[in-house]
Amino acid sequence: MREPLVAANWKMHGSRAGNARLIEALAARFPSEPAACVVCPPHVYLGEVARLLQAAELPVALGAQDLSPEVQGAFTGEVSGAMLRDVGAAYVIVGHSERRAQHGETDALVARKFAAAKAAALVPLLCVGEDLSQREAGRTFEIVGRQLDAVLGSGADAFERAVIAYEPCWAIGTGRNAQPGQAQEVHAFIRGRIAQRDAKIAASVRILYGGSVKPANAAELFAMPDIDGGLVGGASLDAGQFLAIMAAARR
Ligand code: PEP
Repeated sequence: MREPLVAANWKMHGSRAGNARLIEALAARFPSEPAACVVCPPHVYLGEVARLLQAAELPVALGAQDLSPEVQGAFTGEVSGAMLRDVGAAYVIVGHSERRAQHGETDALVARKFAAAKAAALVPLLCVGEDLSQREAGRTFEIVGRQLDAVLGSGADAFERAVIAYEPCWAIGTGRNAQPGQAQEVHAFIRGRIAQRDAKIAASVRILYGGSVKPANAAELFAMPDIDGGLVGGASLDAGQFLAIMAAARR
């Protein structure tokens, strides 16, 4: 019913030559029946990566890693949703924990960015998740619930044409993934929270897991009933690992 999705967050990695090599390596072994897939390079490379994907005839969507909550104007250094669409992006990551932690992004700002993405006809990929101290204090559902509610405040249909990624901060880039059962528990909570507003949207929204997804753990994570694929950081920079994770999403 829900088609799995695997999203690559390249973060602040890459170069023109390196991106071309990575796409070439993906193309060389790209499966004939791939899982739905999106790659999110740094803003500056979006246009070129769009051209590379097109030239390689890869059925891979393009996503950005962030956007401005504003439409246009005197916002130096910012990039609008319309600009992202203009260079070929279809998705945009919103509220990644690195932006929440390093750039002080509040739930309110993340909700504005989510709304800006939808207004620009981009599919927002909303990241939610608790940090280690919050998990240890038993506050996971409270934190994730609050992050979701900030977006649900804009209307019960907020998660129509949107994707959610549950990314426990303690699992991102640490090599320590959440156990499948631990992740499933939070995914079920997220779907339940949305179902309180709209059962149909809750049943159809894709909820990805992110946090040290690797070829060795992807299949067991993706086998959980409420895990609909992954948001992959480090392993997405290696074509072999990323293709193996995509293959796990097909099972
Ligand atoms: C991420 O950046 O969203 C992420 C999940 O990173 P990693 O896979 O490296 O933990």
